[in-house]
Amino acid sequence: NRLLSMINDLLNIAKTEAGKMELHIEKTSVPELCKTVVGHFAALTRKKKIKVKVSTDNGLPPLMTDPGKVEQILYNFLSNAVKFTPDRGRIEIRAAMADEKTVRISVADTGCGIAPQDKEKIFEKFQQADGSLTRGSTGSGLGLAISKELAALLAGTIGMESTVGKGSTFWIDIPVTLTRNGVTVS
Ligand code: ADP
Repeated sequence: NRLLSMINDLLNIAKTEAGKMELHIEKTSVPELCKTVVGHFAALTRKKKIKVKVSTDNGLPPLMTDPGKVEQILYNFLSNAVKFTPDRGRIEIRAAMADEKTVRISVADTGCGIAPQDKEKIFEKFQQADGSLTRGSTGSGLGLAISKELAALLAGTIGMESTVGKGSTFWIDIPVTLTRNGVTVS
């Protein structure tokens, strides 16, 4: 599985760089998407006794976006959250409107956190935070770089906040309706 996910990461980064990543816009339910992503990690979070909470605002409209890409970004966030959160930690996925045209989906954890000097570099390809914090963990250092590129394809942005020793929150802000030059793409 590790090898497969590394190969997928490499193919995805190559595709975005070649401008070959296509958009598949569909009506998308945020709560369902969040549930699907959390489902991928059920066995792991159970094993680590990590409590996972999903809270999605009631009034969230369905999105017109590329659900596969949103799912991949959330998958990367959650995979890091699970990896860097110790046993019996907590992870919370939240979805709410950030403004009337933008939805914010965040993944917060009670993991090791990220030092201020590493906050920019972790979004670069093949970069990981200081080895002393994440020593012993696996990964290619590509997940966040890919997520940043995918977010840009969705006309969105990625943000993060973190405190060493307390935890991190990563979020994506994406338009409810994906438009290209003001025209709805479908
Ligand atoms: P990978 O996880 O494969 O190393 P990423 O690009 O997803 O690659 O992450 C880059 C680095 O950012 C990680 O190696 C880790 O040092 C740091 N990081 C990402 N998410 C978290 C998190 N939730 N908690 C602590 N560190 C994190």
